[in-house]
Amino acid sequence: MRELQEFTKKYQKELNYHIKEDSYERSKESILMNHMLLSTEVAEIAELLRELFTITNEKKIKGFDEVEAFRYAKREISDDLGKEISDCIAYLCKLANFFERDIEKDFYDKMEEVKQRVKK
Ligand SMILES: [Mg+2]
Repeated sequence: MRELQEFTKKYQKELNYHIKEDSYERSKESILMNHMLLSTEVAEIAELLRELFTITNEKKIKGFDEVEAFRYAKREISDDLGKEISDCIAYLCKLANFFERDIEKDFYDKMEEVKQRVKK
C-alpha cells in the first residue's frame, strides 16, 4: 500500500491531478472534486454489481443453472470491476496523501479496532 501511495503521489503530480495546496479555496475545491470523483467511482462499482445480477438472470432465463450463470456473470464483469476498484484506490490515495496518512498503518490499526469491538 505504501508503494501505491508513493506511486499515486508522483503520478497525480505529473498529471496535475493532486489536491492543490496553494490556497484554502484551491484546496477546498480540489478536496470536494476528489470526493465527487470517488463517489462516482463507487457508484460505477454498484452499476457493475447490477450488471452482475442482470447477466445472471438472463443466463438463467436461457436455461443455465444458477451457479453456472453466476460464475459466468462474475467472469464477465471481473476486469471492469478491477478497473473501478483501481479508480477508487487512486482517489483514496490522493486524499490520504493530502492528509499525509499512512493508509497501510491506518488500515491495520482500524482492522484491529474492529476486531476488538467484535470480540467484546
Ligand atoms: Mg471508473
